[in-house]
Amino acid sequence: MSGSENAHERGQSVSPIVAGLLARCPRCGQGSLFHNGLMLKPACSKCGLDYKFIDTGDGPAVFAILILGFVVLGLALIVEFRFGPPLWVHVALWGVVTPLLAFILLRFLKAILIALQWVNKAEEGRLAKD
Ligand SMILES: [Zn+2]
Repeated sequence: MSGSENAHERGQSVSPIVAGLLARCPRCGQGSLFHNGLMLKPACSKCGLDYKFIDTGDGPAVFAILILGFVVLGLALIVEFRFGPPLWVHVALWGVVTPLLAFILLRFLKAILIALQWVNKAEEGRLAKD
């Protein structure tokens, strides 16, 4: 259980908001969390924190869907009633803007949930320490 042992070695940790905004390691705030955009690295390149403890599950996707759905629909309605563009403008505009915003938002939400998991020591329940 060296992975979860590592997760219990708590030192100073950076603010979850800062770590989330910058997509940095939740312990040192220096090393990056992701490579290729949203792929999680195996460990922190600065402090060596093992990222095996990380399990955000579907959390970031759910938040992204709810937030982005609200924002994009609102923007689409504003564009429609302000400018009344033809339908193809909506398809082209939101077809590009939505995935772009989703990528940015998912990166931020994933990083902030990882930082919160770290700060709050959230992990799978177990009956006894082994
Ligand atoms: Zn680190």
